Amino acid sequence: VQIENLVYQYRGASQPVIKNFSLQLNQGEIIAILGESGSGKSTILRLLTGLETPKSGRIVINGKKIVDDHTFIPPEKRGIGMVFQDYALFPHMTVEDNIKFGLRHMTKKQKQNRLDEMLELVDLLDYKKRYPYELSGGQQQRVALARALAPAPSLLLFDEPFSNLDASLQIKIRDELKEILKRTNSTSIFVTHDQADAAALADRTVLIEKGVVKHISKG
Ligand code: ATP
Ligand code: MG
Repeated sequence: VQIENLVYQYRGASQPVIKNFSLQLNQGEIIAILGESGSGKSTILRLLTGLETPKSGRIVINGKKIVDDHTFIPPEKRGIGMVFQDYALFPHMTVEDNIKFGLRHMTKKQKQNRLDEMLELVDLLDYKKRYPYELSGGQQQRVALARALAPAPSLLLFDEPFSNLDASLQIKIRDELKEILKRTNSTSIFVTHDQADAAALADRTVLIEKGVVKHISKG
Protein backbone atom coordinates (compact mmCIF):
# COMPACT_ATOMS: atom_id res chain seq x y z
CA VAL A 1 0.00 0.00 0.00
CA GLN A 2 1.39 3.39 -1.02
CA ILE A 3 -0.02 6.67 0.20
CA GLU A 4 1.69 9.67 -1.35
CA ASN A 5 1.44 13.36 -0.47
CA LEU A 6 -2.24 13.44 0.42
CA VAL A 7 -3.65 16.93 0.91
CA TYR A 8 -7.20 17.46 2.06
CA GLN A 9 -9.21 20.51 3.04
CA TYR A 10 -12.81 20.42 4.29
CA ARG A 11 -15.14 22.69 2.40
CA GLY A 12 -15.28 26.12 4.02
CA ALA A 13 -12.12 25.49 6.07
CA SER A 14 -9.36 28.10 5.87
CA GLN A 15 -6.52 25.57 5.62
CA PRO A 16 -5.95 21.88 4.88
CA VAL A 17 -6.50 19.38 7.72
CA ILE A 18 -4.17 16.89 5.98
CA LYS A 19 -0.90 18.22 4.67
CA ASN A 20 1.32 16.02 2.52
CA PHE A 21 0.57 12.77 4.31
CA SER A 22 2.70 9.91 2.96
CA LEU A 23 3.07 6.34 4.17
CA GLN A 24 4.15 3.01 2.70
CA LEU A 25 2.86 -0.23 4.18
CA ASN A 26 4.43 -3.63 3.61
CA GLN A 27 2.26 -6.73 3.17
CA GLY A 28 1.10 -7.90 6.60
CA GLU A 29 2.32 -4.81 8.38
CA ILE A 30 0.33 -3.22 11.22
CA ILE A 31 0.62 0.56 11.40
CA ALA A 32 -0.73 2.73 14.18
CA ILE A 33 -1.62 6.35 13.53
CA LEU A 34 -1.33 8.17 16.82
CA GLY A 35 -2.39 11.76 17.42
CA GLU A 36 -4.46 14.15 19.48
CA SER A 37 -8.14 14.76 18.95
CA GLY A 38 -8.62 16.83 15.79
CA SER A 39 -5.19 16.02 14.34
CA GLY A 40 -6.73 14.41 11.24
CA LYS A 41 -6.60 10.67 11.96
CA SER A 42 -10.17 9.83 10.97
CA THR A 43 -9.87 12.07 7.92
CA ILE A 44 -6.97 9.96 6.65
CA LEU A 45 -9.13 6.83 6.95
CA ARG A 46 -11.98 8.61 5.12
CA LEU A 47 -9.58 9.45 2.28
CA LEU A 48 -8.48 5.81 2.11
CA THR A 49 -12.01 4.39 2.08
CA GLY A 50 -13.18 6.96 -0.47
CA LEU A 51 -15.64 8.86 1.72
CA GLU A 52 -13.59 11.94 0.86
CA THR A 53 -11.55 12.87 -2.21
CA PRO A 54 -8.11 14.40 -1.65
CA LYS A 55 -7.24 17.78 -3.12
CA SER A 56 -4.03 16.17 -4.37
CA GLY A 57 -1.95 13.06 -3.79
CA ARG A 58 -2.03 9.41 -4.73
CA ILE A 59 -3.09 6.08 -3.23
CA VAL A 60 -2.02 2.71 -4.68
CA ILE A 61 -3.14 -0.66 -3.30
CA ASN A 62 -1.58 -3.89 -4.61
CA GLY A 63 -0.29 -2.03 -7.64
CA LYS A 64 -3.74 -0.66 -8.44
CA LYS A 65 -4.28 3.09 -8.54
CA ILE A 66 -7.15 3.96 -6.21
CA VAL A 67 -6.83 7.73 -6.29
CA ASP A 68 -4.76 10.26 -8.17
CA ASP A 69 -5.43 13.46 -10.14
CA HIS A 70 -7.30 11.46 -12.80
CA THR A 71 -8.55 8.43 -10.87
CA PHE A 72 -11.22 7.81 -8.27
CA ILE A 73 -12.10 4.18 -7.57
CA PRO A 74 -15.41 4.04 -5.63
CA PRO A 75 -15.35 2.79 -2.00
CA GLU A 76 -16.89 -0.64 -2.66
CA LYS A 77 -14.25 -1.48 -5.28
CA ARG A 78 -11.20 -0.59 -3.19
CA GLY A 79 -10.82 -3.86 -1.30
CA ILE A 80 -10.70 -2.06 2.02
CA GLY A 81 -12.31 -3.35 5.22
CA MET A 82 -13.20 -1.05 8.07
CA VAL A 83 -13.94 -1.53 11.77
CA PHE A 84 -15.47 1.44 13.55
CA GLN A 85 -15.40 2.55 17.14
CA ASP A 86 -19.02 1.54 17.72
CA TYR A 87 -18.67 -1.76 15.76
CA ALA A 88 -21.52 -0.62 13.48
CA LEU A 89 -23.09 -4.08 13.25
CA PHE A 90 -26.55 -4.17 11.72
CA PRO A 91 -28.74 -4.45 14.84
CA HIS A 92 -31.60 -6.24 13.08
CA MET A 93 -29.36 -8.95 11.59
CA THR A 94 -27.92 -12.07 13.20
CA VAL A 95 -24.18 -12.61 13.52
CA GLU A 96 -24.40 -14.88 10.47
CA ASP A 97 -26.15 -12.29 8.30
CA ASN A 98 -23.88 -9.50 9.47
CA ILE A 99 -20.82 -11.45 8.35
CA LYS A 100 -22.39 -12.61 5.07
CA PHE A 101 -23.39 -9.07 4.17
CA GLY A 102 -20.10 -8.28 2.40
CA LEU A 103 -20.08 -11.62 0.54
CA ARG A 104 -22.93 -11.00 -1.89
CA HIS A 105 -20.82 -11.97 -4.90
CA MET A 106 -20.23 -15.50 -3.55
CA THR A 107 -22.34 -18.64 -4.02
CA LYS A 108 -24.37 -19.92 -1.09
CA LYS A 109 -21.86 -22.68 -0.41
CA GLN A 110 -18.87 -20.33 -0.56
CA LYS A 111 -20.60 -17.92 1.81
CA GLN A 112 -21.30 -20.67 4.31
CA ASN A 113 -17.69 -21.87 4.22
CA ARG A 114 -16.31 -18.38 4.61
CA LEU A 115 -18.72 -17.68 7.48
CA ASP A 116 -17.57 -20.77 9.37
CA GLU A 117 -13.93 -19.96 8.71
CA MET A 118 -14.36 -16.44 10.10
CA LEU A 119 -16.38 -17.54 13.13
CA GLU A 120 -13.76 -20.12 13.96
CA LEU A 121 -11.08 -17.47 13.66
CA VAL A 122 -12.77 -15.20 16.21
CA ASP A 123 -13.97 -18.15 18.30
CA LEU A 124 -17.71 -17.51 17.95
CA LEU A 125 -18.92 -20.63 16.14
CA ASP A 126 -21.80 -21.10 18.59
CA TYR A 127 -23.12 -17.56 18.12
CA LYS A 128 -24.32 -17.60 14.51
CA LYS A 129 -27.98 -17.09 15.29
CA ARG A 130 -27.54 -14.41 17.93
CA TYR A 131 -28.36 -10.75 17.44
CA PRO A 132 -25.80 -8.06 18.34
CA TYR A 133 -27.76 -7.05 21.47
CA GLU A 134 -27.39 -10.62 22.74
CA LEU A 135 -23.59 -10.35 22.72
CA SER A 136 -21.06 -8.74 25.05
CA GLY A 137 -19.06 -5.73 23.87
CA GLY A 138 -16.00 -7.87 23.21
CA GLN A 139 -18.03 -10.43 21.26
CA GLN A 140 -19.58 -7.67 19.16
CA GLN A 141 -16.12 -6.34 18.46
CA ARG A 142 -15.02 -9.80 17.28
CA VAL A 143 -18.05 -10.06 14.98
CA ALA A 144 -17.16 -6.67 13.52
CA LEU A 145 -13.64 -7.94 12.91
CA ALA A 146 -14.94 -11.15 11.30
CA ARG A 147 -17.22 -9.13 9.05
CA ALA A 148 -14.38 -6.84 7.96
CA LEU A 149 -12.04 -9.79 7.29
CA ALA A 150 -14.59 -11.99 5.48
CA PRO A 151 -14.19 -10.48 1.97
CA ALA A 152 -10.37 -10.83 2.34
CA PRO A 153 -9.63 -7.10 1.97
CA SER A 154 -6.18 -5.90 0.87
CA LEU A 155 -6.20 -3.32 3.63
CA LEU A 156 -8.01 -3.20 6.98
CA LEU A 157 -8.72 0.06 8.78
CA PHE A 158 -9.60 0.49 12.45
CA ASP A 159 -10.79 3.76 13.95
CA GLU A 160 -10.37 3.69 17.75
CA PRO A 161 -11.77 0.15 17.85
CA PHE A 162 -11.40 -0.35 21.60
CA SER A 163 -12.73 2.90 22.97
CA ASN A 164 -16.13 1.45 23.87
CA LEU A 165 -14.68 -1.45 25.86
CA ASP A 166 -13.69 -1.45 29.52
CA ALA A 167 -9.97 -1.35 30.30
CA SER A 168 -9.33 -5.06 30.93
CA LEU A 169 -11.35 -6.11 27.89
CA GLN A 170 -9.47 -3.56 25.77
CA ILE A 171 -6.21 -5.31 26.50
CA LYS A 172 -7.64 -8.78 25.90
CA ILE A 173 -9.25 -7.83 22.57
CA ARG A 174 -6.18 -5.90 21.51
CA ASP A 175 -3.95 -8.93 22.01
CA GLU A 176 -6.44 -11.27 20.29
CA LEU A 177 -6.72 -8.88 17.40
CA LYS A 178 -2.98 -8.63 16.92
CA GLU A 179 -2.73 -12.41 16.91
CA ILE A 180 -5.51 -12.74 14.31
CA LEU A 181 -4.06 -10.03 12.07
CA LYS A 182 -0.63 -11.63 12.16
CA ARG A 183 -2.08 -15.10 11.52
CA THR A 184 -4.01 -13.84 8.47
CA ASN A 185 -1.09 -11.62 7.34
CA SER A 186 -3.51 -8.67 7.07
CA THR A 187 -2.11 -5.27 6.23
CA SER A 188 -3.77 -2.85 8.62
CA ILE A 189 -3.93 0.69 9.92
CA PHE A 190 -5.08 1.51 13.43
CA VAL A 191 -6.11 4.94 14.49
CA THR A 192 -5.76 5.66 18.18
CA HIS A 193 -4.88 8.39 20.64
CA ASP A 194 -3.61 5.80 23.12
CA GLN A 195 0.14 5.32 23.06
CA ALA A 196 -0.12 1.97 24.88
CA ASP A 197 -2.44 0.60 22.17
CA ALA A 198 -0.05 1.74 19.47
CA ALA A 199 2.96 0.20 21.23
CA ALA A 200 1.17 -3.12 21.83
CA LEU A 201 -0.20 -3.53 18.32
CA ALA A 202 1.89 -1.85 15.72
CA ASP A 203 5.02 -2.70 13.78
CA ARG A 204 5.42 1.03 13.22
CA THR A 205 3.71 4.08 14.71
CA VAL A 206 3.06 7.29 12.82
CA LEU A 207 2.62 10.35 15.00
CA ILE A 208 0.43 12.96 13.37
CA GLU A 209 0.05 16.55 14.54
CA LYS A 210 -2.31 19.04 12.87
CA GLY A 211 -2.36 16.99 9.68
CA VAL A 212 1.41 16.66 9.43
CA VAL A 213 3.51 13.52 10.08
CA LYS A 214 5.76 14.43 13.01
CA HIS A 215 7.52 11.17 13.55
CA ILE A 216 7.55 7.51 12.52
CA SER A 217 8.88 4.95 14.99
CA LYS A 218 9.30 1.19 15.27
CA GLY A 219 6.74 -0.51 17.52
P1 ATP B 1 -10.46 12.39 17.17
O1 ATP B 1 -9.31 11.76 17.88
O2 ATP B 1 -11.19 13.37 18.03
O3 ATP B 1 -11.38 11.41 16.51
P2 ATP B 1 -9.23 12.98 14.58
O4 ATP B 1 -7.75 13.02 14.65
O5 ATP B 1 -9.86 11.75 14.07
O6 ATP B 1 -9.82 13.35 16.02
P3 ATP B 1 -10.56 14.31 12.36
O7 ATP B 1 -11.91 13.79 12.59
O8 ATP B 1 -9.77 13.73 11.24
O9 ATP B 1 -9.68 14.23 13.70
O10 ATP B 1 -10.66 15.87 12.16
C1 ATP B 1 -9.56 16.68 11.77
C2 ATP B 1 -9.99 18.13 11.70
O11 ATP B 1 -10.97 18.29 10.67
C3 ATP B 1 -10.63 18.65 12.98
O12 ATP B 1 -10.17 19.95 13.21
C4 ATP B 1 -12.12 18.66 12.65
O13 ATP B 1 -12.78 19.69 13.34
C5 ATP B 1 -12.15 18.88 11.18
N1 ATP B 1 -13.31 18.23 10.54
C6 ATP B 1 -13.69 16.94 10.66
N2 ATP B 1 -14.78 16.65 9.93
C7 ATP B 1 -15.12 17.82 9.32
C8 ATP B 1 -16.18 18.20 8.44
N3 ATP B 1 -17.08 17.33 8.00
N4 ATP B 1 -16.20 19.51 8.04
C9 ATP B 1 -15.30 20.40 8.44
N5 ATP B 1 -14.28 20.10 9.27
C10 ATP B 1 -14.19 18.84 9.72
MG1 MG C 1 -11.34 10.43 14.85
